[in-house]
Amino acid sequence: LDTFTKAQRRKCMSNIKSKNTKPETAVRKILYSLGFRYRLHKKDLPGRPDIVLTKKKIIFFVNGCFWHQHKGCKRNFTPKSNTDYWESKLNRNTDRQNRVVKSLENMGWKVYLIWECETKDNNFLEKKLKGFLNG
Ligand SMILES: [Zn+2]
Repeated sequence: LDTFTKAQRRKCMSNIKSKNTKPETAVRKILYSLGFRYRLHKKDLPGRPDIVLTKKKIIFFVNGCFWHQHKGCKRNFTPKSNTDYWESKLNRNTDRQNRVVKSLENMGWKVYLIWECETKDNNFLEKKLKGFLNG
């Protein structure tokens, strides 16, 4: 069951692939306040990771819940029209990210996924990030 209005859905789809999205900015602000410095959208790494902590060898991808089909999340849905088109498009996204994560891990990076819906609550997000950074 999807609880999105038409306008929300359009907004969600238009966020596709955009850089410096709100969720990404939320993650960056917290990392910065914790004293971490990072590189953004590093072109010389597979998948051009969103946030790269070079010294700690940690990478964060900030995933849109729709675009990356967050399992069990209410922001994730398959559009009712052009269902086949969207399904294969979204599946390709997921496959591509899985491959990117594997090759980064093979290169010695720790890779963490942050979901858009997890960036709405700053306290929650900060706890989650601290867990990753200390882990
Ligand atoms: Zn989600």
